[in-house]
Amino acid sequence: MRIECIAIGTELLTTRRLDTNSVWLGERLASLGLAFHRKTAVGDSHEDLAGLFREALTRSDLIITTGGLGPTFDDFTKECFAEVLGVALQEDAQSREDMLAFYAARKRVPPASNFKQALLPAGAEALRNPVGTAPGVWWQDPPAHPGARIVMLPGVPREMKRMWEEQVEPRLRALAGAPVHTLRMVVAGVPESALDERTRDVRERHGHLDWTILASLTQVELLARHADPGALEAVRIDFLPVLGDDLAATGAANLEDAVLDQLRARGETLAVAESMTGGLLAARLTAIAGASEAFLGGATAYSAMAKAALLGVPADLLAAEGTVSEATSRALAEAIRAKLGATWGLGLTGNAGPGAEGGAPVGTVFIALAGPGGIESRTYALPGDRVDVQLRATAWALDLLRRTLRNG
Ligand code: AMP
Ligand code: MG
Repeated sequence: MRIECIAIGTELLTTRRLDTNSVWLGERLASLGLAFHRKTAVGDSHEDLAGLFREALTRSDLIITTGGLGPTFDDFTKECFAEVLGVALQEDAQSREDMLAFYAARKRVPPASNFKQALLPAGAEALRNPVGTAPGVWWQDPPAHPGARIVMLPGVPREMKRMWEEQVEPRLRALAGAPVHTLRMVVAGVPESALDERTRDVRERHGHLDWTILASLTQVELLARHADPGALEAVRIDFLPVLGDDLAATGAANLEDAVLDQLRARGETLAVAESMTGGLLAARLTAIAGASEAFLGGATAYSAMAKAALLGVPADLLAAEGTVSEATSRALAEAIRAKLGATWGLGLTGNAGPGAEGGAPVGTVFIALAGPGGIESRTYALPGDRVDVQLRATAWALDLLRRTLRNG
């Protein structure tokens, strides 16, 4: 099945708004074992839309549009498609009723312009909108295009998603065949290229699966998709010896979830003292619901003064070793662990750029982990701009703790 996505809205062609709808729809299609063969963003121009609809009808079996269903002058997706296919618009009684009920519930009277939202191309079916006023359209076998399907959804992401999940997906499921399952494995501390090489044998042995390797600044994801969950389980088992300690998480979990899970399972706690990451590590941990069971808190000790005042790092140590030094990272880790009475203390200091600081080249990062068995520290040379270095540093800190917990 050839599936095409058309994101409609002039704002999508500027920096004012990103087309997130087509990304989300692509994800949902993948879970059905389907994929787009083309995506287009187009402005609110009658001529451009009509031209694109004509082309799409010649090359795609399923056309999904988002946007342009509202009541304003620049919303004319339905009008355009009806015109291209040579049919009239007719009022849909249910859509009119839904719209009146929507306004009545809010003790308001619909503006006259709103009634055009209840119009549908003749022969098409309305997709009800439970969270807004613009219904969508499901149009099967439109004139002169038997077998084709056209789906029109609102641009507002919240409305679009709800209608897709509740009304479009069930209709597509019948066409898509067997559901597709996904195996997701998260690897930390290994570059994408090395992981690609290391996993090649297993991927080739299971070459009938659909494979993706997705790298971000903080982890690499290995994804396999297949209709048979048994095939995915066989892959998972084959991967275990290949990935070893580098496997951080499976399923929906990420590196920070894995660390918090390990701590919770052991009944242990963590505190962090951050200099150049400015609280980013704490933010990543607290983004996870239930983090408080294992994460106690921390300090953003950015200046030398804060390192001394908040954590009691001796001024002579800072002067002799420098704020960006291994000794300082160790002092930070030990101090925050002691202050909060945590099982583990992480200390991070470094130079995220853009200028060299205290003689340390950009990207130099020192991370120390203080725990029941003593203190351990590492030095890193991290690539990227300021935010990249900060993010990568948080990942290496989490990974240092993860590996220590795993082996201890
Ligand atoms: P519309 O249905 O064209 O009136 O769009 C309603 C709202 O949804 C506007 O705020 C749009 O900017 C937003 N929107 C439209 N299309 C998209 C899209 N593809 N991704 C994200 N937001 C969108
Ligand atoms: Mg619009």
